[in-house]
Amino acid sequence: MNNLMGQSDFRLLITGGAGFIGSALVNYLLEHTQHKLLVLDKLTYAANLAEVQRFKAEPRITLVQGDICDANLLQTLFASFAPSAIMHLAAESHVDNSINAPAAFIQTNIAGTYTLLDAARRYWQTLSATAQQAFRFQHVSTDEVFGDLAPDAQPFSEITAYAPSSPYAASKASSDHLVRAWHRTYGLPVIISNCSNNYGPGQHREKLIPKTISNALAGLPIPIYGNGQQRRDWLFVNDHVAALYLVLTRGRVGETYCIGGQNERTNLELVQQICDILDELAPVGFCKLSAGQRYRQFIQFVADRPGHDQRYAIDSGKLQAELGWQPAESLSSGLLKTVKAYCAAR
Ligand code: NAD
Repeated sequence: MNNLMGQSDFRLLITGGAGFIGSALVNYLLEHTQHKLLVLDKLTYAANLAEVQRFKAEPRITLVQGDICDANLLQTLFASFAPSAIMHLAAESHVDNSINAPAAFIQTNIAGTYTLLDAARRYWQTLSATAQQAFRFQHVSTDEVFGDLAPDAQPFSEITAYAPSSPYAASKASSDHLVRAWHRTYGLPVIISNCSNNYGPGQHREKLIPKTISNALAGLPIPIYGNGQQRRDWLFVNDHVAALYLVLTRGRVGETYCIGGQNERTNLELVQQICDILDELAPVGFCKLSAGQRYRQFIQFVADRPGHDQRYAIDSGKLQAELGWQPAESLSSGLLKTVKAYCAAR
């Protein structure tokens, strides 16, 4: 599937294309390719409605508000759009919500992925041998499926055993297993990627970085779970979507690719770095700090999340060696862009 970018007859079905990563992916595809896009999204609370409005005006995008659990809808869309490939991002994605109300995670992430896989298989089996070979089902997953990493352990890689901790991670792990089963059993040409924490403009305010920025700017407490020593690896969202397209077009069928930014930080270090950027930028029109005060003063430690994993870290060596991927953004440059974007959007 090399050199596809200019092909206008390449048709991509993107689930969850109105979400944080999905909308960044759609923007990447609009900028870098000529493909026709069908965005299927339920438009839950997590969807980015400003992006949805822009997508509605874009002739290369067909936007369908619908549920990946709706088998009849999927059958109709496969028949009418005839996708060359699927990039599956639709999911319930917030760990805290999965602890408070897991049912939607089981429904969308597991049953929804099953329904999509089965609709894709039925459609794929109607294709010519050449089209079958070229078809891809790309499943976008998370490093959280690997569970809690010991402080001195090697980063996760493609051969790390699954040990999910939260209902969210368990539902994503289940969906990964289903995708592999559809490859092994039915021969569906799948590719999976497991990525570390994404950040960037347009993320929902429930997530750590947007919440930190918006609370700091409002002069509200910035909550940090437990002692803030949980370690995460952070990747700028545009680097993730570039990796996804590379994996789709040049990755090997049936393989998994780990994607990460090699930016391991404790949550406390990350939040402090954001506060320091805000001190530097001193944006006007927001909460005023008195002379000598700093945004770090709003940091407040709160009761830890149940079952909270202490560490995630990911080794992207395979993606780098096989496909030549490198993230363009450092954590400092990505965070600066992100903070500026949130200040501008308020
Ligand atoms: P998000 O919550 O911002 O967006 C999810 C999108 O899926 C929303 O637009 C929502 O409306 C849609 N959706 C939810 N249920 C649906 C359903 N039943 N049918 C159709 N659409 C539905 O999530 P995100 O952060 O953009 O994550 C996208 C994907 O990437 C997810 O699969 C997630 O597990 C994975 N991922 C996320 C991260 C991260 O740090 N955000 C890291 C690694 C992997």
